Amino acid sequence: MTPFDYDLFTIGAGSGGVRASRMAGQFGARVAIAENYRIGGTCVIRGCIPKKLLAYAAHYAEDLEDARGFGWTIEGATFSWAALIANKDREIARLSGIYAEALARANVAVIEGTARLIDAHTVAIGERRITARNILVATGGWPSKPAIPGIEHAITSNEAFELKVLPRRVLIVGGGYVAAEFAGIFEGLGSEVTIAYRGEQILRGFDDDVRTHLHDEMGKKGVHILLKSTVSRIARRAEGTLEASLSGAPGGALECDAVMFATGRTANTARLGLAESGVKLDEEGGVVVDRFCRSSVGNIYAVGDVTHRLALTPVAIREGAAVATTLFGGLQTPVDHNDVPSAVFSQPPVGTVGLTESEAAAKLGKVDIYKASFRPLRHTLSGRDERTLVKLVVDSTTQRVVGAHMVGADAPEIIQGIALAVKAGLTKAQFDQTVGIHPTAAEEFVTLREKFSAS
Ligand SMILES: Cc1cc2nc3c(=O)[nH]c(=O)nc-3n(C[C@H](O)[C@H](O)[C@H](O)COP(=O)(O)OP(=O)(O)OC[C@H]3O[C@@H](n4cnc5c(N)ncnc54)[C@H](O)[C@@H]3O)c2cc1C
Repeated sequence: MTPFDYDLFTIGAGSGGVRASRMAGQFGARVAIAENYRIGGTCVIRGCIPKKLLAYAAHYAEDLEDARGFGWTIEGATFSWAALIANKDREIARLSGIYAEALARANVAVIEGTARLIDAHTVAIGERRITARNILVATGGWPSKPAIPGIEHAITSNEAFELKVLPRRVLIVGGGYVAAEFAGIFEGLGSEVTIAYRGEQILRGFDDDVRTHLHDEMGKKGVHILLKSTVSRIARRAEGTLEASLSGAPGGALECDAVMFATGRTANTARLGLAESGVKLDEEGGVVVDRFCRSSVGNIYAVGDVTHRLALTPVAIREGAAVATTLFGGLQTPVDHNDVPSAVFSQPPVGTVGLTESEAAAKLGKVDIYKASFRPLRHTLSGRDERTLVKLVVDSTTQRVVGAHMVGADAPEIIQGIALAVKAGLTKAQFDQTVGIHPTAAEEFVTLREKFSAS
């Protein structure tokens, strides 16, 4: 007779927690999962999925305009934010239901409420105490906001998905991918958008050519990007609008209808009882784990955003699967975080995999760069002034393609395919041997003959 109520208790039913729990249940383990909001977590409820639905909506504005060049006459097109949000809500409710059904099918007990650790084997939810041989922390992250005067007037991505009306003028603070994506969403749907970012260029951590290319393209669409700019206070005016005091804006202030902070996310570990149970946290409160996602306490694991590794859904899912396999599948399974592709669903979107040019130069010394910037075929008739960027970063010594980057329509779809080649370690010559599909933007990746630079 086991002394524990469960073999695995998971805290947080998001991407990582759900995958680990489902797989553990399928392996025959006795599993429970606690969730204090909605099953599905950030990605399903207020992240990837609703964000991409809104990004699709925003792109229709350009599609309708571009259609004219192809002979279409479209009159009387109108947009309803309320209809979009209602349809989005219906879809995420459906997806959340699918996650719940999958947990039920795997015999995972779902417990509603906020869980915290009492000790390394005991979890409290309200007055209830539950014991488990293993505990998985999969509590994700939460958008952080700075403590400036008037911050209560600002929203984050969480609230942006729930706005009752589309703001006419939006100030987005931050320069990461969430800021770029929401700038594209609001601008496409008709808002006047300003980005205020304290750094030198948006999309820190991405390839420098990608950063400047996206900056230029967003600027052409009408997004005002203020660099080296910080917001110091927000005030609500008598007529209900907001005034943000910010450096870099004419007059030092900007009047708008919404201020959205997209300045990073903090690990959800406050009041979880982790440190008290001996679990080591990093300086920002993330759970420190080894390559098997095991924390400093042997039976406590952590996956996903709460571990401050790569904050992406497929990574959280991979980590959750690895923990279930290690614990109940009879195979010690580490997670490989190299060459993980990712996207920015901005307007236009970005796809990227592997090393940036500067990372490759620092790591490998000598790199060859191949790149092209061109007007996509579609825009020869639409008349839109939008250019696509494709770029390959090649290790000079081995000729392996170590990075691929793209800004332009379908970049995330294209880079997912290119990621296979980068992960497999293919060389530039093998890219060259591959015949392109014509006419596509993707064929540029196998027809980049001229070396742009070598270092
Ligand atoms: C706006 C936005 C857009 C994004 N877009 C993308 C994208 O396009 N592609 C991509 O790959 N990633 C994207 N992400 C990141 C992605 O959503 C996360 O990497 C992913 O959801 C992490 O999964 P997780 O399991 O670690 O945590 P989460 O999905 O955040 O799940 C954690 C769960 O734990 C629950 N919880 C927290 N504390 C407790 C507690 N004490 N007790 C009970 N339950 C608790 C929370 O309510 C939540 O449901 C986006 C994120 C945001 C914010």
